[in-house]
Amino acid sequence: MTLEIINNHSLAGNNTLALESTAEYFCEVENTAQLMEALAFAKSRSLEITVLGAGSNVVLKNNLSGLVIIINFKGIRHIIDGDDVILSVAAGENWSNLVKYALGNNWYGIENLVLIPGSVGAAPIQNIGAYGVELSDVFISLDALDLFTGEVNSMSHELCEFGYRDSIFKKQDKTRFIIIEVKIKLSLAAKIRGDYPLLREALEMDMQESSDMITPHRVAHIVSDIRKKKLPDPSIIANVGSFFKNPILNSVSIKKFLKYYPAAPVYECTGSNYKVSAGWLIEKCGLRGFRSGNVGMSSEQALVLVNYGNATPRELLQFSESIRQQVLGVFKISLELEPSVYGYF
Ligand SMILES: Cc1cc2nc3c(=O)[nH]c(=O)nc-3n(C[C@H](O)[C@H](O)[C@H](O)COP(=O)(O)OP(=O)(O)OC[C@H]3O[C@@H](n4cnc5c(N)ncnc54)[C@H](O)[C@@H]3O)c2cc1C
Repeated sequence: MTLEIINNHSLAGNNTLALESTAEYFCEVENTAQLMEALAFAKSRSLEITVLGAGSNVVLKNNLSGLVIIINFKGIRHIIDGDDVILSVAAGENWSNLVKYALGNNWYGIENLVLIPGSVGAAPIQNIGAYGVELSDVFISLDALDLFTGEVNSMSHELCEFGYRDSIFKKQDKTRFIIIEVKIKLSLAAKIRGDYPLLREALEMDMQESSDMITPHRVAHIVSDIRKKKLPDPSIIANVGSFFKNPILNSVSIKKFLKYYPAAPVYECTGSNYKVSAGWLIEKCGLRGFRSGNVGMSSEQALVLVNYGNATPRELLQFSESIRQQVLGVFKISLELEPSVYGYF
């Protein structure tokens, strides 16, 4: 199929915050040949490139210069090796559909990550995570086109430098790689990750009702129920899930913090660092459900910023900055945005 490149394309339907934003040039690519054609087009006009999946973790300002490329490669392959299931998944597959596919086969490993919106190709960017599991727990490698060299290379777990909502793709090499395929390892053997507090409580209650074996379906079902109660559906109220990352404090800062706020939920993470719940900080500032004009913090989940309808990118970013400043003022903790911001006003 020939590639269609559109000039001045509205991205309102390509981001779950439903922000009105215009791409100078826009295309969707379904295979490597189309991707190469799009890149040649950009090179011939010296255009910068922005890659998008489902737009569920971006804030788009009014205009994006250059070429916006949506990666729409499809396909899931797998091989079974003993108890391991090795999956190679094209970047344009929908993450949630991949989880359903794994559940349909009774494969363990990504059931805790059910209902996370977006594409498989974007999953490594922030090392998606939920309910005690991160992509990095099942990740083997990915294939990415290196825009510096023009070559497709395989990148190992180590090369991706995964961290909490972080990877090499969010650091210095932000615009260097286009991910086209992701390899993960699932399991035929029962391996449940039910230690995350909210999930553990729900599993314990569920087990009181039925002593049947805990299957990945059961975990996915419980996680889905919790998510549906806690998170506003972006098809009803526009949002990108958590708008801020949970801040990380070292052991000295966490001691000071807990002295003043002993009831604050904190979680141990890598090294001697601790994650503080950003939602709790926002809630304690009285900002859960707070609305200003077209933007607000959700009343269901304080960490989710919502666009009630016609918010402009400037209005939304000014609102998020005011939330950041209030949390900084009260707790002396600086919140960092989870979604990536693109474009200009
Ligand atoms: C209701 C809701 C709930 C959410 N819950 C969670 C959650 O529980 N845990 C979690 O971790 N996240 C969550 N998110 C955030 C989001 O779903 C994930 O970050 C998801 O991986 C984004 O996928 P996407 O395709 O929409 O990426 P996009 O928003 O399109 O892009 C995100 C970033 O990835 C880059 N990118 C996208 N595709 C590629 C590619 N093929 N190659 C290179 N770069 C690429 C983009 O340039 C951008 O920087 C939630 C979002 C919503 C709306």
